Amino acid sequence: MAVTKRVVLHFPRSLVDQPIMCRLAREFNIDFNILKASVTPKEEGLLVVELTGESKDYKLGVKYLEKSGVQLQPLSQDVIRNENRCTHCGACVVLCPTEALIVDPATRKVNFVHEKCIACGICVTACPPRAMEIRF
Ligand code: SF4
Ligand code: SF4
Repeated sequence: MAVTKRVVLHFPRSLVDQPIMCRLAREFNIDFNILKASVTPKEEGLLVVELTGESKDYKLGVKYLEKSGVQLQPLSQDVIRNENRCTHCGACVVLCPTEALIVDPATRKVNFVHEKCIACGICVTACPPRAMEIRF
């Protein structure tokens, strides 16, 4: 059975120039789609990726990443909405590229659908009361 997961990969400085993702694809048959790439102030590499592979390959691939020193986090842990701050103003809805922020037609409230979020960060800067946060 094939699995597709969106994860955040943290590469320590020593691994930034290593061909880890190439090996993941070649040796573990895992397809990856890079959704976001950046370098943190500590010069660590950070990739938000969608990984797809057969369940068995996926598990082996994740073990390989961890053994190599890459830290994995599920994407949904990293983007959060502070429900106490959100005023449901809707400013983020038109900007979100994946429709992870949508208006519920019944309640007129803005819902955050974690599974669709690619951690692009657009809503973080656009949200007037700073309700959206990304923690990498
Ligand atoms: S922009 Fe911020 S306050 Fe407005 S709906 Fe979106 S998350 Fe809520
Ligand atoms: S970070 Fe915000 S704007 Fe970007 S995909 Fe996630 S919810 Fe949408």
